[in-house]
Amino acid sequence: MPESIEKLLERVLTAPFYFGQVLTKKTMTERFVLSHRDDEATDQLKIFRSAEDAIEIAKRDDAGNYRPLKTAPNLRHGWRLELETLEDLRRALESFYPGRLAMFAAWKSDQLQTTPLRETLDRQSGMYRVAAKISDSQLDDLVAEFCRSNGGCLRTILWKRDAEGAIASTKLPKEKFDPACDQARVCSRRPAGDARASHSEAATVPLLCQEACNLLIAECRKVMKGE
Ligand code: SF4
Repeated sequence: MPESIEKLLERVLTAPFYFGQVLTKKTMTERFVLSHRDDEATDQLKIFRSAEDAIEIAKRDDAGNYRPLKTAPNLRHGWRLELETLEDLRRALESFYPGRLAMFAAWKSDQLQTTPLRETLDRQSGMYRVAAKISDSQLDDLVAEFCRSNGGCLRTILWKRDAEGAIASTKLPKEKFDPACDQARVCSRRPAGDARASHSEAATVPLLCQEACNLLIAECRKVMKGE
């Protein structure tokens, strides 16, 4: 059985941690403070105090544009979310990155199942059926562009291209497939460094990608339609 998300959070919370672009810290009074990781040292932040506020914060980027992919590296800046309980924290993190805590808990318990991209493509019907015709070399380019951490998506890819275990894209760096690497570091305003999590600062809880998302499937279709 995967460890419960609350238990997992309790364990992870022994130190501050990054979850995508969100930094979570525990205060001396056992409360939780969340902010954009770039805003750690910023004073002039808008204060929120409800876990549900995370829904609105996560909805739009700095320019006010809707964020269709919640794991894209465009979380808005300028807010600080103060929460009382572990349950509040769980709900807020679920709103920032839907489904990702559950995937992390399953992965920590060696229970996470991944689905090869070709299987996901072959499952499509109707107008998306054509997406399965995409070639391996087209996938190399598309996945490298669409899923890259710097500008695309902050998830760590765990799925393979096919049942034989081919890598999702030969054009992505090996760090993109390593849950120990902090994917958000490459697009942080803070100085870049080794992407592997360092024990001298906040820990990193990876955003895991166990199966290609609908947006990537839609992009495969666009490639085949020549759009
Ligand atoms: S397939 Fe996974 S890594 Fe790629 S964009 Fe979708 S969620 Fe992100």
